[in-house]
Amino acid sequence: MPRRSFRVGRSRTGLGLFATRPIRKRARIAEYKGRLLTTKAAEKVEVRGNRYLYEINSRWTIDGTPRSNLARYGNHSCNPNAETTIVKRRVFIYALRAIKPGEEITYDYGVDYLKNVIGRSNCKCGRCMRRRAKRARERRALQKRRAARLAGKRRRARRASKSKAKR
Ligand SMILES: [Zn+2]
Repeated sequence: MPRRSFRVGRSRTGLGLFATRPIRKRARIAEYKGRLLTTKAAEKVEVRGNRYLYEINSRWTIDGTPRSNLARYGNHSCNPNAETTIVKRRVFIYALRAIKPGEEITYDYGVDYLKNVIGRSNCKCGRCMRRRAKRARERRALQKRRAARLAGKRRRARRASKSKAKR
């Protein structure tokens, strides 16, 4: 593999991978490295809280716990710019599109992980944060419209009672 094209740095959720130079679409970025475990052995360490397991197939799982496995710092995104690909019993991270220097490198951990480990409403990826911000903006706008409508109603009611009093 050529010189590393990323570094480990601070991200929204702790640490993450960040491009240090332009990465071309489909370029191989890193290998998700670790011990090869049988499914049975993987289930045992999973119960103990290992969050760095990458299931290759029904028989084998990679234990990516070692800190030397820099790929483990890659965060999940629902709109990722990279993806993992299994080649025999190895896992590589490839760019899904061109990545600019400084951009965080993310890949999709899959629906199971999102649902069971992160929790759909806790995902801090760019897309989910934007979606939540948009929803909050819409909620605020709706409240404003409702408040304005109420104020208008009150104003009209006051005017109506005033004109009645004149008569
Ligand atoms: Zn997300």
